[in-house]
Amino acid sequence: MKSSVILEIIYKKLLKAFHHRNWWPGDTADEIIIGAILTQNVSWNNVEKAIENLKQHNLCTIEQIHHSNMEKITPHIRSTFYFNEKAKKLKNFTEFLYTHYNGDVCKMFQTTTWTLRKQLLQIKGIGEETADSILLYAGEKPVFVIDAYTKRIFSRIGLTKPDWSYTEYQQFFMENLPEDIGLYNDFHAQIVNLGKSICRIKPLCDECPLNNFCEKKLIYLTK
Ligand code: SF4
Repeated sequence: MKSSVILEIIYKKLLKAFHHRNWWPGDTADEIIIGAILTQNVSWNNVEKAIENLKQHNLCTIEQIHHSNMEKITPHIRSTFYFNEKAKKLKNFTEFLYTHYNGDVCKMFQTTTWTLRKQLLQIKGIGEETADSILLYAGEKPVFVIDAYTKRIFSRIGLTKPDWSYTEYQQFFMENLPEDIGLYNDFHAQIVNLGKSICRIKPLCDECPLNNFCEKKLIYLTK
């Protein structure tokens, strides 16, 4: 079966099992960008606490962060660990936005997708997953986000190799899925949900909606 057909079936199975995930959790583009930076290497629960703190202290917009300083930001994002680094990354992003786009997120997203992606990747502390999350979820740009769950699940299924680079993974999905922002949005959210709840380090294969497709299922089920 072609990879494009398998991916379509996989998405339908995930959708049927878990329903639409309504991502990204965030009310505004600013909040999504802030969340995408804060969630690096930490669970979303920890980010939620930080976002709530930032909101309570009027620090949850790009403008407010830009006009604030590290000392003011860090106490409110302690739940995200590495909080000094993350405060710096938030400041690096706002510095970029004010330097190149006069602080205007909408103006930034008028830049073509792959040009903006290159620009975002030049910001210190913004990697591919964060840049693509910003592009897809805040900017509604058609880029597929890859993360550790994607690599784990799809290499276990046998569609990809665990040692593929981020770019190879992204190309695999984008070449085998129709260019559809809604699909990219929800498919990534479904993958994260499956990775967190079922296809864990020690997977629960008997509960997995993808177990008919998975090469590794038998290995895990017999352990
Ligand atoms: S069957 Fe098991 S290893 Fe395969 S994707 Fe599902 S949980 Fe992961």
